[in-house]
Amino acid sequence: MVTMKSSTEEIELIRKSIRALCEKFPEDYWKKLEEKHEYPKEFIQALTDEGWLSVLIPEEYGGAGLGMAEASVILEEINRSGGNAGAGHAQMYTMGALLNHGSEEQKQRFLPRIASGELRLQAFGVTEPTAGSDTTNIITRAKRQGDKYIVNGQKIWISRTKYSDLMLLLARTTPKEEVAKKTDGLSLFILDMNDQKDNITIRDIDTMVNHATTEVFFSDVEIPVENLIGEEGKGFRYILSGMNAERILVASESIGDGLYFVDKAVQYANERVVFDRPIGQNQGVQFPISKAYMEIEAAKLMRDKAAAMFDSNHKGGAEANMAKYLASEAAWKAANAAMDTYGGYGFATEYHIERKFKEARLFMIAPISNNLVVSFVGQHVLGLPRSF
Ligand SMILES: Cc1cc2nc3c(=O)[nH]c(=O)nc-3n(C[C@H](O)[C@H](O)[C@H](O)COP(=O)(O)OP(=O)(O)OC[C@H]3O[C@@H](n4cnc5c(N)ncnc54)[C@H](O)[C@@H]3O)c2cc1C
Repeated sequence: MVTMKSSTEEIELIRKSIRALCEKFPEDYWKKLEEKHEYPKEFIQALTDEGWLSVLIPEEYGGAGLGMAEASVILEEINRSGGNAGAGHAQMYTMGALLNHGSEEQKQRFLPRIASGELRLQAFGVTEPTAGSDTTNIITRAKRQGDKYIVNGQKIWISRTKYSDLMLLLARTTPKEEVAKKTDGLSLFILDMNDQKDNITIRDIDTMVNHATTEVFFSDVEIPVENLIGEEGKGFRYILSGMNAERILVASESIGDGLYFVDKAVQYANERVVFDRPIGQNQGVQFPISKAYMEIEAAKLMRDKAAAMFDSNHKGGAEANMAKYLASEAAWKAANAAMDTYGGYGFATEYHIERKFKEARLFMIAPISNNLVVSFVGQHVLGLPRSF
């Protein structure tokens, strides 16, 4: 049966608590960070101190032992407040691989220290310049030498590396030409970046959004064999559960973004008077806001379904993907409705719309582009011919 761990009242309590925390980090806090390209250290510390970033860690390892439904609401509320949960979301979605496929020894070694905030697991190293969306084409190589793996290669677009101690790293342990299936021969590691800092080069990528994203170069990086998750060569399967979690959580951030835009647009459309009437009285202004709102509410139902399936160990890959697609598209509609409602003022940074507009756009491309989601549904859900 698909169930949810928390009651409606408990979920509402989580929402209220996050709203209270976010009030201490108003929109101007995020605006100043973006101007200076800075990471929200104080905000992430506050989330860690209140235990919100470790909600998915089971109680026996020091976390709250909650599920994806609760985690989703946390990230949704952060984005609805005008903040950006992307600064901390990886700590939640990387949990799937470690919890489901890590050994008991690994869980004991890492989870309590992640839960307490002593260790940060905020970096997820998958994307490579030459592979792009075709993850099985990655070439970063981990070669076993005695009780270590030696890693050489390059990742791109790896966010929060400078604000993380650990990276969940996907690398090839067997070249693609030597495996029967292209998804074989990939392995997943917990890389301690502090331990290997002389062999890791991190370069900032200047981006449209404040996302602390980087290029990472590995030169003879050593990873002890005890940091391999599960079996060598099966890493692709392990990251899929993490990726489903990521899609549900990113969908939640998009839902939060969408509701943020609706809140702001409704308020402005009621207040701004042009031609002697509030602009919201014009259906040309009102209808796009209403339509976006309906689409966000529909995406929320799919997100809730995907989260409930994830929490009950039901296969929910299709739902996680569909939630991410529907939520990011709905948020983008809401972003445009808010931009149109604000008119020229939408471009002024002091109104925050342009900052959130840029942030909302990201989720149509990352962590997976919506084209790839549509093709997944076509090929794997509907059984249409494969295009690649
Ligand atoms: C700000 C930011 C943060 C990120 N953070 C991380 C991170 O922390 N860790 C990480 O591993 N990655 C991260 N990424 C990478 C992100 O996951 C990729 O950018 C994304 O998966 C798309 O890959 P790509 O950019 O290489 O696009 P490409 O694969 O080069 O695709 C380019 C375009 O072509 C389209 N396309 C490609 N093939 C097809 C096809 N067969 N059919 C239809 N359309 C197709 C795609 O939809 C896309 O629109 C981040 C990216 C950004 C921008």
